[in-house]
Amino acid sequence: MNRQEVVRGTGAAPGIGIGSAWIWDGGPRRASPAGSGQDPAGEWERFQAAKERVSEQLEGLKMRLAAEGHAGEAALFDAHRLMLEDPALLGPIRERIEAGAAAEDAAAGAAEELAKVFAAMDDEYFRQRAGDVRDVGWRIVQELTGARQTAPPADGPWVIVARDMTPSQTAELDLTTVAGIVLEGGGAMSHAAILARARGLAAVTGAGPLLGRVAPGELVIVDGTRGEVILHPGANTVARYRRQAGQASAARRRPSDPHPAATADGHRIMVAANIASCDEAGWAAEAGADGIGLFRTEFVYMNRHKPPPEEEQVEIYRRVVAAMGSRPVVFRTLDAGGDKPIPSLGLEAESNPFLGWRGIRFCLDRPDIFKPQLRAMLQAVPEELWLMFPMVSDPGEVRRARELLAEAEQELRDAGLPVARSVRVGMMVETPAAAMVVDRFVPWVDFFSLGTNDLVQYVLGVDRTNPKVSGLYQPAHPAVLKAIAHVIEVGRRENRWVSVCGELAGELPFVAFFAGLGVNELSVAPDRIAHVKGFIRSIRREDALAAAQEALAAPDGAAAMTVLETCCRVARPPEDGARQ
Ligand code: PEP
Ligand code: MG
Repeated sequence: MNRQEVVRGTGAAPGIGIGSAWIWDGGPRRASPAGSGQDPAGEWERFQAAKERVSEQLEGLKMRLAAEGHAGEAALFDAHRLMLEDPALLGPIRERIEAGAAAEDAAAGAAEELAKVFAAMDDEYFRQRAGDVRDVGWRIVQELTGARQTAPPADGPWVIVARDMTPSQTAELDLTTVAGIVLEGGGAMSHAAILARARGLAAVTGAGPLLGRVAPGELVIVDGTRGEVILHPGANTVARYRRQAGQASAARRRPSDPHPAATADGHRIMVAANIASCDEAGWAAEAGADGIGLFRTEFVYMNRHKPPPEEEQVEIYRRVVAAMGSRPVVFRTLDAGGDKPIPSLGLEAESNPFLGWRGIRFCLDRPDIFKPQLRAMLQAVPEELWLMFPMVSDPGEVRRARELLAEAEQELRDAGLPVARSVRVGMMVETPAAAMVVDRFVPWVDFFSLGTNDLVQYVLGVDRTNPKVSGLYQPAHPAVLKAIAHVIEVGRRENRWVSVCGELAGELPFVAFFAGLGVNELSVAPDRIAHVKGFIRSIRREDALAAAQEALAAPDGAAAMTVLETCCRVARPPEDGARQ
């Protein structure tokens, strides 16, 4: 009997993890030694000693992350060390000890009480900090009781299945044995999720009740890119995911493919990377990306109480540009809203967030937030700045955004600040409106970037976050292929650079489709770069074009998919002299 089950959550860190379930119950079991609590002075001393040890551990974690190149995330543990000295935590611990509690009970109780105060706050940023307080409290209790949560043994790969995880637990995971993380709770904005992303661990959060449904050691697949967890996977599913995971890890083992990619018959396609942070820019550069095709700048605004100040943005953007050297970086302006609520921007819950106040719509209404970002980008790039606007549906939006850009430029000149020598303005094509009348946008932009993640869901009217309709989310549906083909055709005719930056850009059957129709650039996750380049070299443009045309004429998505997959299977290995 096929028991396979797909559980949908939030894709908190991209990638695929396949491994045996390691059920993690979250924290230490508390057991106060008999008689403790009778000696408050002694208990306070025990607590102080444990606190010192925890402080050293946190310093160690910080060094470990910094050594892995995650300086930003490492700073989190400075915040945890400060928490260890915070009177809001120490005061109640001392009071409890003086009232006769054992040190571990006092620490656990006081941390939980403070965490609840945070958790009840309206502000999402502070709510997320509840997890940090619990983390610190948990470490102290662990030190006092010696009851350490057992980490998975070395004979992985393991997929951690837990209610929730603390940032420090995530930072401690051994990347050689852990393949992925599934959390029943948690959000993509929690620090645990951020650390998983930074460390390249596939993670799905918010997967709902799971602990009772997965037995220890049972095979679990985590698809952090799609936000899916596959329980009791069938043999075909496992084989398919192993192929994908193998491709990704092969790309990681071969981190550098800095050579240009052209089809076997000589058509050059730039293969760039999608990133969301400075760390990922370094990763992309190592992977041999020809540039950054999509820098999701909204991630710079996450996990903060206030939007990042202009000067700090300049610094971050400069670091990304520096990581890429002479290779171009396409900055996407803030794309808040939809599935990316950013509390510090004051976006309220909406009944239809994907159709609501998001992307360029929000930015045009909030020049106080938009202009500092534009100024920061203009200052960060000395030569040619490439920037693009998300969620555009009307040419007027691009015109207005360009006016604000011109104002930002003038303000910098007036203030005697550095300004990019030239600017290339582009737009994401991710609404059906933009795709259908893409020619109307030609006078206002230098390039188009197809955002297929959103385009597919808008064209088909299928919310890809809703498991009830996920079967209808068919990227090869004739309507989607037709919309994409139209955009590429107009771009070629009008001499506009066309890129694809949605997830489809890294899926080989679609790479064949895009290559056949003649896109200029594919922008993919850094760990797909080498693989996509290798595949491009293995196909001939004319074969890919024939497959694309056949797919476009196919009666439905399934038939089109078959055509494109067949094209991949018959793709030839690179010809003599072509680089692999
Ligand atoms: C897209 O929609 O395809 C895209 C790249 O944007 P995001 O995934 O950030 O919405
Ligand atoms: Mg999008």
